[in-house]
Amino acid sequence: MNIALIAHDNKKDLLVGFATAYKGILSNHNLFATGTTGSRIMNETGLTVHRFQSGPYGGDQEIGALVANNKMDIVIFFRDPLTAQPHEPDITALIRLCDVYAVPLATNLGTAEILIKGLERGDLAWRTIVNGKSGEIIENN
Ligand code: PGA
Repeated sequence: MNIALIAHDNKKDLLVGFATAYKGILSNHNLFATGTTGSRIMNETGLTVHRFQSGPYGGDQEIGALVANNKMDIVIFFRDPLTAQPHEPDITALIRLCDVYAVPLATNLGTAEILIKGLERGDLAWRTIVNGKSGEIIENN
């Protein structure tokens, strides 16, 4: 599966902790992230992550484009609900596209844990039916 990991600054420690805790599961999948989030995950967990632009510079939109093309199977996006973000329209657009395409999306730790455990258990196998290509590595990964 292709999994996107994104965290706003105040949530980056949380996402790194999440990636560390579930490294065994995440390492079986293709990981993608916005720029700074991806650097931190790679440096602090040793996982391999394809990095897009930093969020405020278009990274959320790059991930949104993959959602729109059915190439992203899961989005874990620890957004900060207490801090205004300069790229709020991009964040809203990404969340909207996940809803348009019924792509599983977790915006907080509680849901992310359910999602990752469901992934391990095979609950998301339906994604392979939806896109027929799940697990495929995106070309420039
Ligand atoms: P970043 O972007 O990982 O480059 O910090 C995340 C975001 O702000 O959307």
